[in-house]
Amino acid sequence: MIIMATRKDLEKKLCLKFCTYYKPNKKNEFACMGYHVIKQLLKKGYKIIFTDTKKTIYRKTEELLAKRMCIYCSFYKNDCDFIQQKYASDPCGGFILLGQLLESKLISFDDIVRNVKKL
Ligand code: SF4
Repeated sequence: MIIMATRKDLEKKLCLKFCTYYKPNKKNEFACMGYHVIKQLLKKGYKIIFTDTKKTIYRKTEELLAKRMCIYCSFYKNDCDFIQQKYASDPCGGFILLGQLLESKLISFDDIVRNVKKL
């Protein structure tokens, strides 16, 4: 069964739970690329478990995600603390969940790359 998540559902399951930068009472017009990729994966029928496993995201995985996904994110150039501070700050919630799913081998790196929206 394909699960279609509304923006509100996904903000609740993903942003509210995983993202330090998410402000629930603010109108969030733009979404990060992590959010977009997860939305696409759900649309395609991937079973995404929104549980924070606290699994370590290794530097190599962070670098790959930054290089292949974050560069297409609208926050990449000026607004993402994680990128601006060279991984010293938290990434967004989508990045965290995708990193945990990758480290748990529940999705592959190709699954992510195939669903990045290239600007
Ligand atoms: S970590 Fe930053 S650049 Fe990467 S997807 Fe999230 S908001 Fe965008």
